[in-house]
Amino acid sequence: MNAKYDLVIFGGTVIDPIMNREERCEIGIRDGLIQDVAEELDRSKASQTLDATGMLVIPGLIDMHVHLSNVYHGQYGHKMLALAGVTTGLDMAGPTDEVLATAKKDGAGISVAILDGIRPGYNVKDEDPGEDELEKLIERSHCNGAIGIKLRGGHYPMTPEATARAIRVANEQKAYVAYHAGSTRFGSVVEGALEGINLAAGRALHLAHVNSYCRGTSRPIMEETEDLVNALIANPNITCEAYVSEFNGTTAKCSNGLPESLVTRRSLMTRGFEATEKGMEEALRSGWAYANMPEGGIMTLRTGEKAVEFWRELNTAAFVSFPINPPETRFRFATAKRKDGSFVVDGISTDGGAIPRNVIIQVGLSLVKLNALTMADFIYKTSIRPAHILGLSNKGRLSPGADADITIVDFERQIPRSTIANGKIIMHGGVVCGSGCRVLTTKRGEEHVRSYGLEPNVIDVANSGFYQRLEQVQR
Ligand SMILES: [Zn+2]
Repeated sequence: MNAKYDLVIFGGTVIDPIMNREERCEIGIRDGLIQDVAEELDRSKASQTLDATGMLVIPGLIDMHVHLSNVYHGQYGHKMLALAGVTTGLDMAGPTDEVLATAKKDGAGISVAILDGIRPGYNVKDEDPGEDELEKLIERSHCNGAIGIKLRGGHYPMTPEATARAIRVANEQKAYVAYHAGSTRFGSVVEGALEGINLAAGRALHLAHVNSYCRGTSRPIMEETEDLVNALIANPNITCEAYVSEFNGTTAKCSNGLPESLVTRRSLMTRGFEATEKGMEEALRSGWAYANMPEGGIMTLRTGEKAVEFWRELNTAAFVSFPINPPETRFRFATAKRKDGSFVVDGISTDGGAIPRNVIIQVGLSLVKLNALTMADFIYKTSIRPAHILGLSNKGRLSPGADADITIVDFERQIPRSTIANGKIIMHGGVVCGSGCRVLTTKRGEEHVRSYGLEPNVIDVANSGFYQRLEQVQR
């Protein structure tokens, strides 16, 4: 049969704010693209049909903050994202080769873009790398398939000067650059985030998970939150996302009796535990820390004696999460608007992937039910805006010619029902059936991505929303 459509989705309410559409209609897909959207399509001309009766059909979720490398148990991450309704993710740490190898082996059909993490002592010599070293690192990252770099100051800080230098060099090379705030001066706290905004000095910078800096370390939580919201309003050159889960994610790895990560130490102290290996063990045992443990092909959160055992088995190199994010900060960052009505925080992200907190739909839709966001706002923050920032002009909408990236949502139960990526059903009813991975990369990384047997999709970071917003600032 010479089918007109590879897939027709019918019965659902299609919501596409870009096309100003919110109505029951059918979507015909062919060769990975949306071919037709109409009240009724000829289903007899489709190879496959998908019944979305009673569901919302929305542009595929784009999560601007995920983790898919080995150290985070990335082999589970692709499947977890497909289960969560995500069709595109931005990996916020790399290493790029690890992410590519994992994607090749365990891809579940989603698209990913990668940022290579900077870590003093590993890929730069110390905490004060010079311009030359940074230029070479970015060049290497591009050639490896990454679209840019991630400064991981919250975990592995550099000096403020080197942080500013890295942002500048990345901007000069038109590389994407993200920052988990924290320098040798300030930690992963609101002062660190405010310092980061200053260090950017009007340049393009993605400030990662802005909610995570406001946990009441030095002042009342909402005072910290409002300071950061105001700084973001005053600095529209800053791209940012915030997540809606109560859980953070960090490493429990200890050396010489101390957790290596500063975030982990701070998380322990927040609840009065010692910032030591002993404190880590007590926190795992008593229900303040949750080990990220594989179970049934995904990562789950476990606390108690089992979690302690697992952590010991890995010689402490386990991932852990603390339920440390207060609801009021998550609410504020998800909903904050400027005077002109635009959102202060660009996206609702998860910092998930392989970290079990992929709750854009589960928690995000609560904001819609609370009337804090409209459904169009929700779609704007989870697909339209992220697509614009990453320069994905073919995503974020459900119109003919767009990539067939679609999330089908059970609004009542707040769960993703089906995930369609690049025209293929990759998850349906909680069962993942996708494979492979499309890698969003730059011209320079195309060959390297292909050498992994993965499909590159070249994007133009220089002309993406990430850099375009600088022109808007100047206007
Ligand atoms: Zn992260």
